[in-house]
Amino acid sequence: VTHAYLDRIASDDGTLGSYLHVDPEAALERAAAVDASGAAGSGLAGIPVALKDVIVTEGVPTTSGSKILEGWAPPYDATVAARLKAADTVLLGKTNMDEFAMGSSTENSAYGITRNPWDLERIPGGSSGGSSAAVAAGLAPWAIGTDTGGSIRQPAALTGLVGHKPTYGSVSRYGLIAFSSSLDQAGPMARTVLDAALLHEAIGGHDPLDSTSIDAPLPVLAECARRGADGDLAGLTVGVVRELGGQGHTDGYEPGVLARVAEAVALLESMGAEVREVSCPAFDLALPAYYLIAPSEASSNLSRFDGVRYGLRVGDDGTRDLDEVMALTREQGFGPEVKRRIILGTYALSSGYYEAYYGQAQKVRTLISRDFSAAFDAGDGAGVDVLVSPTTPTVAFPLGSRVDDPVAMYAADLCTLPASLAGVPAISVPCGLSDGLPVGFQIMAPALADDRCYQVAAALE
Ligand code: GLN
Repeated sequence: VTHAYLDRIASDDGTLGSYLHVDPEAALERAAAVDASGAAGSGLAGIPVALKDVIVTEGVPTTSGSKILEGWAPPYDATVAARLKAADTVLLGKTNMDEFAMGSSTENSAYGITRNPWDLERIPGGSSGGSSAAVAAGLAPWAIGTDTGGSIRQPAALTGLVGHKPTYGSVSRYGLIAFSSSLDQAGPMARTVLDAALLHEAIGGHDPLDSTSIDAPLPVLAECARRGADGDLAGLTVGVVRELGGQGHTDGYEPGVLARVAEAVALLESMGAEVREVSCPAFDLALPAYYLIAPSEASSNLSRFDGVRYGLRVGDDGTRDLDEVMALTREQGFGPEVKRRIILGTYALSSGYYEAYYGQAQKVRTLISRDFSAAFDAGDGAGVDVLVSPTTPTVAFPLGSRVDDPVAMYAADLCTLPASLAGVPAISVPCGLSDGLPVGFQIMAPALADDRCYQVAAALE
């Protein structure tokens, strides 16, 4: 199996650009060792997997899509990587991504673009666009991505895959290169709902090495995905979020996307679900809140890249002092979007503006969580079991069309940000095509009810 995927990578990845690092010899050696151990064939043993390059892997180059980490090989495995190793999977390689996961198109990688296999002139989504392109094109059976504001769900939607952002704290962040620590979460990207559930089960669960890890058992996911495939949704209440593409909120949404989503909702109804419209007014503010909170945390997290501790060091020739070396390294090591976020975040956190920007954004974040609680926990039987929406307002857009317009790029995250800010689980499942390109349907559930996402997604599959 590993051979087959490596062959496919060798023949197609020159065009796609989905991988940053592949070591065929190491992968084959590992596959042979799993074969020899007799484990292959049980569980996930012997199945290859691709990891987004934001996940640190012992002895295997890890760049987070940034020049500043060029040449760095981490001394340890992220918990996600360690658990996949323990499950006897085979690491195929590390996938391309927007630098430090900042972006929605994978065009912000320091190592070149990745193309969407559905249309090579379009973006594969981001920031986990290497993972989405690799899986969609059959260069990996499945992959791990990370999602801070949509980076698993959005690329999955734009390449016709299933992608799930787990409940915040239910998959370990230990060894994920931090972008925005209160939002970052790793999760599965796969071709089927059941595959995604199986991969999620392999990586999830409590980890003492992550201080925000939830000490609760993971819900049974694969079983739920199997059950959902029966297509019986009697007793389930589905809330369609008005603010995400509903009446009066269709600006920026493509009609083809809204049509496919409406069909998916009708399908849920035909399977016995009760459907009602739900209003979540604070969702309208998710975009500005996220683009203050995430850069603020990033400005703090990225201070560790100082030219001393990791990777690149520029100008250390004995003629410059430490501050100059640090400035030169960061000047040359970070790309434009990363610099934009550091400046924005530093500004939002500065003492004179803290309350006006960061503090305000945190209040909006609380309002968004309250909207979710009101929808899920409304009394008198008025609560819904899941909330649904498009995953993205548009299908995959052409390469180059938004790189010079950050706000247009940020708008790609309109639908995915609320679940990120509230820490609740959300899945994207394919719901048909518009203009020949995949459309994603998003299902959001209360914290720790990831199983509900899988069940409903499986019913639609
Ligand atoms: N596109 C969003 C951003 O640029 C989300 C990225 C992510 O989820 N990592 O911040």
